[in-house]
Amino acid sequence: MTMAAERMKNEPRIEPKEILEGIVEWIEIESPSHDAKAVNVMVDKVEGQFRDLGLDLERTPGRDGFGDILEAKTPAGWSTGQGKGILVLAHLDTVHPLGMKEKELKIRREGDSVFGPGIYDMKSGGYIAYYALRHLIRQGKKTRLPVTFLFIPEEEVGSPTSRARIEEAAKGHKYALVMEPGRDGDKVVTSRKGVGRFTLTARGRAAHAGVRHEDGRSAILEIARQIVRIEEKTDYARGITCNVGLIRGGSGVNVTPAECSIDVDLRVPSMQLAEEMTHWFLNLEPIGKEVELIVEGGMNRPPYQKDAGITDLFQKAQAIYREIGKELNDVPLTGGGSDGNFTAALGIPTLDGLGADGKGAHAVTEQIYYSSLEPRTYLCARLLETLE
Ligand SMILES: [Zn+2]
Repeated sequence: MTMAAERMKNEPRIEPKEILEGIVEWIEIESPSHDAKAVNVMVDKVEGQFRDLGLDLERTPGRDGFGDILEAKTPAGWSTGQGKGILVLAHLDTVHPLGMKEKELKIRREGDSVFGPGIYDMKSGGYIAYYALRHLIRQGKKTRLPVTFLFIPEEEVGSPTSRARIEEAAKGHKYALVMEPGRDGDKVVTSRKGVGRFTLTARGRAAHAGVRHEDGRSAILEIARQIVRIEEKTDYARGITCNVGLIRGGSGVNVTPAECSIDVDLRVPSMQLAEEMTHWFLNLEPIGKEVELIVEGGMNRPPYQKDAGITDLFQKAQAIYREIGKELNDVPLTGGGSDGNFTAALGIPTLDGLGADGKGAHAVTEQIYYSSLEPRTYLCARLLETLE
């Protein structure tokens, strides 16, 4: 064997088998959002792996019952360029309760599909980003821009304890790469609807349903009328959806209900509609007489709209994909929110859905496609390497 061939043989490669082994180690550690202890075992794992790569680490203790936030930065002098760098976002929590890996979501491979809790949303994505950086380091390559990885402990419940941290980090970076699940058929995400959450509480008056029915003021009746009004605001043509997803109320079958409340999920495609709908919700008035209506809430995630900066970043990603003979597309506006909504709303060019292809997010059919691991890792590695 010639020297050149020898060098070729030892050249580090993106090995899908090796990537999958790493992903399986991550999904073996189950990490439901509300279980801080479990999430922190996952944070320990990732922290150790990034420490081994020589990155500067900062771990912020969790609060309000959530896990820790982990930041890993390429050290000073590691990149060839200076200034604002690349922010890579991933969340380490999953929607699945503990024990799923032994039950409905057994970790297993069936043909091209690999199943497991949180494998698609989004441990594969987080691991792909880690592997991509490791791949560059193994090749002795540097990035042009500094890179910051931010691992979030509670994205699946709306990132209540990390939103401010994400926004602060975004302001100090030039680009945001979000490792959320890729979309079937080589697609990434370049826009997302904004998400609003509202709680409506009606207060009526309790009375004996048989003896003093006329004295009662039904909070359930009030909320029932409000539900119809709210659901009718759904307008598919304008991209607005209103979903009354939860209802609570009443104290007994023979008592006129004094209290009833609902939780509403709102999705809107633009900032203008976010403002319009928020205003509408917060100004809802009671329909019935002698009942009180209290409305709380607002936008939880602002809309993520495809602007010129995002289009440009997406085109760079498309050019990279063409290097391996593949065509990258983006999905039409999706209703699902992510932490990418926060960075995009601040005007930071954001590319989302960079994780593995697959399907069944949040479901017992959750799976990734093994064949997507190599191209997706290549895309991430080359974005880190070439963005400037
Ligand atoms: Zn996710």
